[in-house]
Amino acid sequence: MDIPQELRKLGLKATLPRLRILQLFQESKSKHMNADDVYRLLHDEGIDMGLATVYRVLMQFADAGILIRRHFESVASVFELNEGGHHDHLICTNCGKMEEFLDAEIEQRQEAVARERNFVLHEHSLSLYGFCGDCADTLKPGVGKRFRRN
Ligand SMILES: [Zn+2]
Ligand SMILES: [Zn+2]
Repeated sequence: MDIPQELRKLGLKATLPRLRILQLFQESKSKHMNADDVYRLLHDEGIDMGLATVYRVLMQFADAGILIRRHFESVASVFELNEGGHHDHLICTNCGKMEEFLDAEIEQRQEAVARERNFVLHEHSLSLYGFCGDCADTLKPGVGKRFRRN
């Protein structure tokens, strides 16, 4: 992706912080980040952009289709690069870890369910909530709820 060109197409100046935000999504271990995560990474690099501005830039990228904005229960809106393909998510309600998956059988079943009810699907999102392996090891069932983010 030619980021400066993408930004110009959007009528956005290719300012250093804007470029850096997109690079962070390309480089970061965690593909899914909220405004706070991005704000902190910028801050660590000495880029002084306010949280509200970070959020506004992320929303501009989402409106432009460069990023996808995801809504999950109990966590702030997260953003990820729009790489074209579809995937679903697993979310740890204790530590906020997110994993992606794509299961052909589930996809087909959803299509079939919709068809049986005379729906034509144009999109869906499937989010599975629970504890990741690390958290399940250290927590007893029920304890995680108390540590939910937000
Ligand atoms: Zn976890
Ligand atoms: Zn994802």
